[in-house]
Parts: sequence; structure tokens; C-alpha cells
Amino acid sequence: MSPKAPAFPKTAKKGNSVNRKSVKAGRPAAVSGNDRPSPPISPRRLSSDDLHISSFKNMMMQFDEAARRLNIDSRYVDLIKLPRRSVTVQLPVQMDNGSFKIFTGYRVQHSIMRGPAKGGIRYHPDVTLDEMQALAAWMTWKCAVVGIPFGGAKGGIVCDPAKMSRGELERLTRRYTADLMDEIGPEKDVPAPDVNTDAQTMAWIMDTYSMHVRHTVTSVVTGKPIELGGSCGRREATGRGVLFCVQEAAKHLKLPLRGARVAVQGFGNVGSVAADLLAKEGAKIIAVTDAHGGVHNPNGLELPKLLDYVHRSLNKTVTRFPGSRPITNEELVKLGCDVLIPAALENQITEENAREIRCKILAEGANGPTTPAADAILDKMGVFIIPDILCNAGGVTVSYFEWVQDRMGLFWEEEEVNGRLDRIMRRSFADVLKISLEHKVNMRIAAFMLSIKRVWDAMVMRGIYA
Ligand code: NAD
Repeated sequence: MSPKAPAFPKTAKKGNSVNRKSVKAGRPAAVSGNDRPSPPISPRRLSSDDLHISSFKNMMMQFDEAARRLNIDSRYVDLIKLPRRSVTVQLPVQMDNGSFKIFTGYRVQHSIMRGPAKGGIRYHPDVTLDEMQALAAWMTWKCAVVGIPFGGAKGGIVCDPAKMSRGELERLTRRYTADLMDEIGPEKDVPAPDVNTDAQTMAWIMDTYSMHVRHTVTSVVTGKPIELGGSCGRREATGRGVLFCVQEAAKHLKLPLRGARVAVQGFGNVGSVAADLLAKEGAKIIAVTDAHGGVHNPNGLELPKLLDYVHRSLNKTVTRFPGSRPITNEELVKLGCDVLIPAALENQITEENAREIRCKILAEGANGPTTPAADAILDKMGVFIIPDILCNAGGVTVSYFEWVQDRMGLFWEEEEVNGRLDRIMRRSFADVLKISLEHKVNMRIAAFMLSIKRVWDAMVMRGIYA
């Protein structure tokens, strides 16, 4: 038996706004496979006191809400919802002092329905399989929402890179790659950088993979150094995509960006580029934070100077930037501003701080920064949320360009990369906004509806090999 492709409901049903009741109660709204109701996700109310707000369960709640609106056949819903493959590896690494330490690594391939799996690799002490599964699923929806031919994946290693030497990190990366030789590959699963990994990490993965297959395969990873088959514009791509989305949202809301007050949580790859580009468009970056603290200046921080300061500082931090006052992460989130950009980690905007947020646009540079409970609160407050699967999709879009260029052996000028990114991001924003307006749903549900429909359509066309 083959599932049928769902059509978008013609008009919004009565009471078609976000199903706050089910979201608040922590229950998914749809039924899972076998027509049985899904088990309750959590009887507790989510709060930031929770040490582990389950990212995967959060993602499932967002999925269920959108799938319900698409009237997806519940008998097949798990086929596109659950991760296809999750691999756990134990990685022995020789440390600089001669001892061996075992690190746990993960690679989750959520979907290969629309193409090879695609997703970053994160090095962080808090990495869990649950988080990897959520981030892998988000990659599936993200690739689908911007219409690039990839499925979703994510990987990570439980480690604290700040306490490891470069040599230890290289050995860890190479061992992780060697253990995943059967999983990754240009046609199978293409990793990229994420939190605490960078172009150097990708170069080590590319080299290790190439040594094993006996020839150089640049397209096995994206986010590589330009000299090794990386793409112009990849480093800035996620932040640039955030800029395009914020520009489109501001246009929709008739909010002038020139002089708009912007606060950015997380000043790494995504946050710093988004802040820099927005400042170049005339926005006022009034506050930024990072893992060490933050800085605030109501008149606007001078971005070129701040970037230079961070670059030269020992811990690569914004703290103690001259001409600013210190600000905590929690204070930044509650600061009155026009645009708030969470660009650090997940679950930063929760039921506990959402009511105190004073922004017009929440641009989710990070993956999963807003819990479902907070999402419902902000929705009610009228905050225009640009959901992560759309807002930060610029990175994977240029990763796709990198993969294409590596396979062609022909490389584009930065202008061409940025132009193509511009078109894809603005078109995707418009696609999501159209669904949001037509079906009277918020941008997150609209983005999920668009992406689930695309993945579902691919599954229907391929058929189920059962
Ligand atoms: P990064 O490591 O370059 O930067 C992370 C930043 O967040 C750093 O400034 C760090 O100090 C800060 N940070 C960490 N913990 C914090 C805390 N508790 N409070 C405030 N700041 C904190 O990582 P990145 O690549 O910029 O990724 C940031 C987010 O964006 C992640 O959620 C990632 O999954 C997502 N993302 C990244 C890309 C990409 O291309 N890099 C693409 C899509 C999504």
C-alpha cells in the first residue's frame, strides 16, 4: 500500500491558530503510526529549571502540530518523523600526557528521503543522543524548507575542546572519522561544522576519509578551508541568511532596519556575522553575549572594533569591551529591542523568561533556541518569530553550493555564491510567509508544513520499500 500525497488544506480551518492547549500541556497533537495516540511527551510543564529539556521531544511537538494541519496519514507519519539511523561510537584517543581517554561520539541520519544526509558536527560536554536526533531532524526540515536536495543528519562528540590541545582534537577527529567510514560519504552523509568545530576540523575529516578511500574526496564534508575545496562565502553564510530573513521580516512588518535596535546572544560564527552585516545595514547592535559574559551599549556597539577586540582577546570573548557595560545572558534576552537574535545554544528562551522578552522580531540563528512553551507565549504576545529551520538555513544552503562545486571541480566567485544565497533565502521566506498568511498559522508551523509536505511528497514518489 502506498501513502497518498497530502494537499495543503484550501482554507484555514476555524480556530486554526497554534494549538496552544496541546503545546502547553506538553502533548503532541497528532497520532503516531498504528493509529495509536502518541505517548504523552511530558506530564510536567517545561521550565528553564529543567536541566534537560528534551530537544527531540520539542522538535516532535513542532512536527506533530504541522503534520496534523496537513492531515498526513498517521499510519506513515513515523516514516518521516523518526531518525533513520543513529550510531554511537566509543573513541579511544591518546592524550598529550600519554594516557588514553575514551570519548563518546554520535552520528544520527534522520532522513535520506530527498538526498544524502547533511548536518554538522558538534564538540561539547553536553552533547547527547537526544540532542543529536533533534538537530538531525531539524536539518531534514531545514533542507526541505529551502528546497535543497539533502536529508538531515547531525553528529557530535562529548568533549570539552577548551580543555584539549590541538593535537588531541586532531586525533579525536580522525578517530571519529575512521569509525564512521561506513556512514559518511558524498552520496551518503556529508558533515559540516557546528558548535566548537570549524574549517580545520573539516580538513582533518576530509583528509582522514581520503586516506581510507585512497584518493582525495573533497565533497565528503562542507565548511572546509577555501584552499581545500571550500566555498567562498560559506563562513558568513548562516549569518548572511539571518540578515536576509530579518530584512524580509522587517519589510513585512514595515519596520525600518536603519536604527533598529538588535541584541545578539552568542557571538560565534552565526551571531558575529549576523551582527556585523546588520550593523552595515544601519541597525544598532545594542548588546551581545557569549559563553563568558556580555556587553551592552544603548547607543550601539561599534562592530568592526568589537570584532577586532574579540579576535585579539585571549578567550575570544566580548567581555570588557571598552565603552560598554557588562550584561548577563538573561538580561540580554529581556532587553527592550526590535530584533533579538539567539545565536548560541538550544533552549535559551523558555517559559520562564518568554513573558519578559521585549522584541518585535525573534530571529532564531541558533537551532532550537525557543522551547515550545515559550513559543506559545511569544506567539500570543505577537512576536514575529523567524523559525530556526528557515532563519539559519543559509549555512546549509552554501554547504550545498560547496558540495556542488566540489563535485563539478569548478568554483564560483563570492558574488555568485551570495547572489544565489540571497535568492534562495528570500524565496524561502516568501514561501513560508505565504503559507503562514493563507493558513493563519505562525511562521514556525508554516515552515514545518512546507518542509514536511516536501519530504512527504518525496516519500510518496519514491514509494516504501517494505
Ligand atoms: P560558535 O561555536 O561559533 O559560537 C557559539 C557562540 O555562542 C560563542 O560565542 C559562544 O561563546 C556562545 N555561547 C555558548 N554558550 C553560551 C551561553 N550559555 N550564553 C551565551 N552565549 C553562549 O557556534 P555557531 O556556529 O555560531 O553556532 C551557533 C548556533 O547556530 C548553534 O545552535 C548552531 O547549531 C547554529 N547553527 C550554526 C550554523 C553554522 O553554519 N555555523 C548553521 C546553522 C545553525
